Amino acid sequence: MSISANIAAARSRIAAACAQAGRDPGEVELLAVSKTHPAAAIREARAAGCCRFGESRPQELRDKAVELAGADVDWVAIGHLQTNKAKLVAERAQEFQALDSLALAEALDRRLQTLGRRLAVLVQVNSSGEAAKGGFAPDAVADAVAQLAHCDALDVRGLMTLAVHSDDEAAVRACFATMTDLQARLRDAHGGGFDTLSMGMSGDFELAIACGSTCVRLGTLLFGARPPAPVGP
Ligand SMILES: *Cc1c(COP(=O)(O)O)cnc(C)c1O
Repeated sequence: MSISANIAAARSRIAAACAQAGRDPGEVELLAVSKTHPAAAIREARAAGCCRFGESRPQELRDKAVELAGADVDWVAIGHLQTNKAKLVAERAQEFQALDSLALAEALDRRLQTLGRRLAVLVQVNSSGEAAKGGFAPDAVADAVAQLAHCDALDVRGLMTLAVHSDDEAAVRACFATMTDLQARLRDAHGGGFDTLSMGMSGDFELAIACGSTCVRLGTLLFGARPPAPVGP
């Protein structure tokens, strides 16, 4: 199937999941995860109506932003970011979904202040508790959010997670439920906000929508399989 047909199919699955959950499909963004895929694939997705693209690696995001300057797309950084690469994201991204340390927040904030830019951010939460996953532990998020208040160039919009990768639906659902619960508690404490809940990927987005996701990050489903990730640091 073509990318545009894949996008249409994904949109109808999102709409069906929303209908089943009694939600308005306008509440759920389809974020096209274009990592590893070429600029031509992004142009095709843009023509099919996607205007925000998720990239994991900062150099790749930068290179694509340069190549696609003028294509009227926004860049969303979704992968773990080392502090020494903060500049690449500060310069090019409209949103960063993987904020997982205060040191990184401060590095981004400094760069953004220098550039005179702002950045929407989501705080990444390790909802599965797996050692290999990034993000703040759920019980550390409230403190982290409080400390982010002094990063003036960051607009904290909500939370992001990767659920456990498992066939056990209850285990996946538990990760998503942790997030909805956390979002509700943050809203209570801050009198609102934290509207974005980025959760759900190609294998689990329908369940994520049932649990309250407002942004599903779809790569494989739209663009096909990626080459295996390189092994090593
Ligand atoms: C790669 C990636 C995705 C997309 O995963 P698919 O299973 O290909 O849909 C979503 N979120 C993050 C953070 C990713 O790194």
